Amino acid sequence: MSTKTTIMKFGGTSVEDARAFQNVAAIIRSAVANRPVVVVSAIAGFTNTLLASVRQAIEGDAGSATRSLIPDLDRHLAISQQLLGPESRVVFEAAVASARREIRQLHKIIAAHPVTHLPLQDEIVAWGELLSSHLLASVLRENGVAARCVDARRLIRTDDNHGSAAPLPESSLSTRTELTPLIEAGEVPVVGGFIASAPKGATTTLGRGGSDYSAAIIGAALDAREIQIWTDVTGVLTADPRIVANARTIPVLSYQEAAELAYFGAKVLHPKTIQPAIEKNIPVRVCNSRVPAEAGTLIVSESAAAPQTVKAIAHKTGITTVQVTSARMLGAYGFLRALFEVFDRHRVAIDVVTTSEVSVSLSLDNAAALPEVIPELRKLGTVEVEKNRAIISVVGEGLRNTPGIAARIFSTISAVNVAMISFGSSSVNLTFMVDEARVREAITNLHRVCFEAVDGDSALMNQAEEVTA
Ligand code: ADP
Ligand code: ASP
Ligand code: MG
Repeated sequence: MSTKTTIMKFGGTSVEDARAFQNVAAIIRSAVANRPVVVVSAIAGFTNTLLASVRQAIEGDAGSATRSLIPDLDRHLAISQQLLGPESRVVFEAAVASARREIRQLHKIIAAHPVTHLPLQDEIVAWGELLSSHLLASVLRENGVAARCVDARRLIRTDDNHGSAAPLPESSLSTRTELTPLIEAGEVPVVGGFIASAPKGATTTLGRGGSDYSAAIIGAALDAREIQIWTDVTGVLTADPRIVANARTIPVLSYQEAAELAYFGAKVLHPKTIQPAIEKNIPVRVCNSRVPAEAGTLIVSESAAAPQTVKAIAHKTGITTVQVTSARMLGAYGFLRALFEVFDRHRVAIDVVTTSEVSVSLSLDNAAALPEVIPELRKLGTVEVEKNRAIISVVGEGLRNTPGIAARIFSTISAVNVAMISFGSSSVNLTFMVDEARVREAITNLHRVCFEAVDGDSALMNQAEEVTA
């Protein structure tokens, strides 16, 4: 390929209505010279509606399940009415009608056989991205861009872990085989994010928020010049803007900082997005589709990133912690292996682990399997479970080289009970657990001390800048 491609991924909030579609089309049109490959999410809220409809069908009410989709299907039709010419509108309306028909059949099957629902659920939610990619390609053509909708299931191949499938290495070749001829011919491929296919062809999905991951997988396969994530905020911010109103854009992050932030709850990036970018050393840029002129966040390798002490604070609620205590741990070997094997067998992912002489504490994002896990853990020691916990993670490459930083951070939130402190093995994050009810207070205070100057003192981040300047 002569010039490298640029991946441009637009999230659901970037395609919520006709105005947003038009806006996205303008952004893409002005970037046609960069050989864009467009990745798009379902229109805002549609994936939630589709998933809720599956739950209704499982409860046996297939009729209500299908009816619940009418408002969102109508939103698609309204957008096409406003933005498409008569010919492409007829084609799109037929696509919406067939989506409705196929989902109706799937709802009926789920209502009759609820146990088989996961593969069918993927089949249903995929319609979110199938429709948005069709619609965006049509809108782009109305705007004079030679766009072509490409079915992501022909590009990204995964295992058959429905709902949270893992991509297979052959995705690279299939992505190149499908997209390179189009790009060479001057076309702009428009691919639905989030969806993929298993070896036997069944539709799979990459987990909630997975369109970012699709963009990164496609970017790595094409050895793109840049992977752009266009969303509804200006880049990665110093904290979740829903908690800290004056959170600011972070100009530059290292891959590792971005990966830790995403992993510990910064929803702006799917946690797995950074890995494919690291493999090919491709810069990731997070931009605001509503204010495209604003510089967002550039995510690059560590050496190129600015080494400030604290870059951002991430958090994740709904965490369960499990503590296993046993005197058998003292000086013995084999205990930790036995403990982790229990979680392994039940395919339960662990986020944070801390140990003392006689106990191990673990945090879990998804505690659904706990009823089966706990009796097995009891064979190893006494087990205590705490629900409604939150992980807070303070992230920055500069944490490595800043003496006394942990003390300053914890003194800031001394009123809040802190547990399971982990100064990540990467030393790029300082992570700890608080009660969910105190998370807002803790983050607001931390943000004030780290990023907002107090009483004439410069904030932590600025001090670090002065030191390195
Ligand atoms: P999209 O539909 O574009 O994928 P998402 O809702 O998945 O958008 O992600 C963007 C949202 O992530 C923002 O609107 C914001 O509320 C939330 N968010 C949480 N933490 C952060 C952070 N540190 N920086 C930016 N956004 C964040
Ligand atoms: N539409 C999917 C979701 O809502 C994927 C994404 O938006 O990234 O989870
Ligand atoms: Mg997202």
